[in-house]
Amino acid sequence: MRRATHGYPAPVTSDGAADAVVIGAGPNGLVAANVLADEGWRVLVLEATGAPGGGVRTAELTVPGYRSDLCSAFHPLAVASPAIAGLGLEGYGLRWRHAPAVLAHVFPDGRHASISRDVDRTASSVAAFAPADADAWRAEFAFWQRVRDDVLDAVLRPFPPIRAGAQLVRELGAAEFLRLARLATLPARVLGHERFAGAGARALLAGCALHTDLGPDTAGSGVFGWLLTMLGQDVGFPVPEGGAGALTDALVRRLADRGGRVDCERPVREVLVAGGVAVGVRDAAGEAVRARRAVLADVPAPVLYRDLVAPACLPARLLADLDRFHWDDATVKVDWALSGPIQWAAPEAGQAGTVHLGVDVDGMAGFATDLACGRVPRTPFLLLGQMTTADPSRSPAGTESVWAYTHVPRGVQWSPSRLRRHVDRVEQVIEDVAPGFRDRIVGRAVAGPAELAEHNPSLVEGAINAGTSAIHQQLVFRPVPGLGRADTPVDRLYLAGASAHPGGGVHGAGGANAARAALARNGRLGAGYGGLIRSLHRAVYSSASPDFSRVVT
Ligand SMILES: Cc1cc2nc3c(=O)[nH]c(=O)nc-3n(C[C@H](O)[C@H](O)[C@H](O)COP(=O)(O)OP(=O)(O)OC[C@H]3O[C@@H](n4cnc5c(N)ncnc54)[C@H](O)[C@@H]3O)c2cc1C
Repeated sequence: MRRATHGYPAPVTSDGAADAVVIGAGPNGLVAANVLADEGWRVLVLEATGAPGGGVRTAELTVPGYRSDLCSAFHPLAVASPAIAGLGLEGYGLRWRHAPAVLAHVFPDGRHASISRDVDRTASSVAAFAPADADAWRAEFAFWQRVRDDVLDAVLRPFPPIRAGAQLVRELGAAEFLRLARLATLPARVLGHERFAGAGARALLAGCALHTDLGPDTAGSGVFGWLLTMLGQDVGFPVPEGGAGALTDALVRRLADRGGRVDCERPVREVLVAGGVAVGVRDAAGEAVRARRAVLADVPAPVLYRDLVAPACLPARLLADLDRFHWDDATVKVDWALSGPIQWAAPEAGQAGTVHLGVDVDGMAGFATDLACGRVPRTPFLLLGQMTTADPSRSPAGTESVWAYTHVPRGVQWSPSRLRRHVDRVEQVIEDVAPGFRDRIVGRAVAGPAELAEHNPSLVEGAINAGTSAIHQQLVFRPVPGLGRADTPVDRLYLAGASAHPGGGVHGAGGANAARAALARNGRLGAGYGGLIRSLHRAVYSSASPDFSRVVT
């Protein structure tokens, strides 16, 4: 089979092995590969599909001349994350573009609240719902600016965040720090009520929380709403010029510059383990690739531990915990080619790159309840992207390329007619607050859960975040109770994708953390590091696993 190859043709050492094999060329895999290549490692990335990028790809899906992002479209996390920002991808062709406004929440009655990068404009938008919210928003943003670097470090760097935590205590004092920690547990609705008086700011918070699978009444949803609204205020919701795939292109180019290579159409079928140590992988064609120093897996945890590693190589307790692994909801995504921009009843919404619509906070609660009960929501909450508004290169002048997705329960059988009916509902939600929307449609591409998983096998049954973002599967509980780190119970094997802490989104932190763990294992103090990780794993997995000593030695 002739494979598409990106990069230089020789990422292997003279003995025929790579220093590291990365399974999966999603953003986490590519960031991991770049971090290792920066240290002089020879890195080979094996990608199952025909192109690198995973959830970060762009193609003409609807009508020629209209570019659509296959998954991720807006990238506040990428620009704020040290893991991606530190790579200097602008030197490899990446250019960020911004819509005139960041985010609008359009209520079913046509009112809207919006975030702009100018804090005074945001303040006046939320003040239209409650005058006191102008100052409340400014105060919240001022607090964010005080803690932002340490909060991002605490969230995105390897667990446990000792340095960032200590820095936050120094900056805030113990009393304030305690209250910041409480914020991390709050449901988005409670946070909204504690901080704001009006429906506008509250809906912006709860809508941003729903970028995860967490409704407004779920513990821990508030912090996601807070992070995304504050990042929106701070860095906007930028998009790569030309499409999200331009971010992938820059990552691949940078890797190639350092001697790394991505082989596409080369799915990995097995991680090779000898004496409790990962020593390479075998691809679907049966070819083995030796990894002298590390194997990094940018795939969901259940895929790694159930499909790629032999059960005998893993602690029984980890496998039992995987039975309780909780996926996030499934997804239906629609892309449209429009003959002109969407004509919103609230014209200001036309300025925003991202638009939330369909429901208010109570409606989001109903939406989340439907999903929890396995019902397809009759009134979907939509995340919609006006892509040409954000980046004029996405479609011909005067037209609009539009991207949207909504969540649906897992396990539903989506016949073409059932999918079509749901897309009708989605289009009606837009039509209700933007009359004439349907008349502007000149092309449409629909992806249900099965189609999403077809183009990216990591989107298992349409789950977009490689596991729920709920508090019971965060930090030391992600992906299963353990250390919250990339290290796995198999020496030199690292979990590098969104199933690992800190979870979904295009921030590259999972990949960077895995690369750092691999570097630590191979560094001057590597033997000690490996020994420490082994004994910690023994502690967290041993009690229900009498034969664990056979696995971790
Ligand atoms: C519809 C949708 C919209 C989204 N919108 C946003 C957004 O606007 N902003 C944002 O920040 N995030 C967004 N996300 C989430 C984001 O795309 C993911 O969190 C991110 O891509 C995860 O990166 P990853 O590298 O962990 O995994 P992925 O991007 O999923 O990459 C994993 C890669 O591994 C490959 N693979 C799987 N199995 C194998 C195997 N056995 N062998 C070899 N290769 C394999 C896959 O083909 C894939 O290329 C969205 C996701 C979806 C689906």
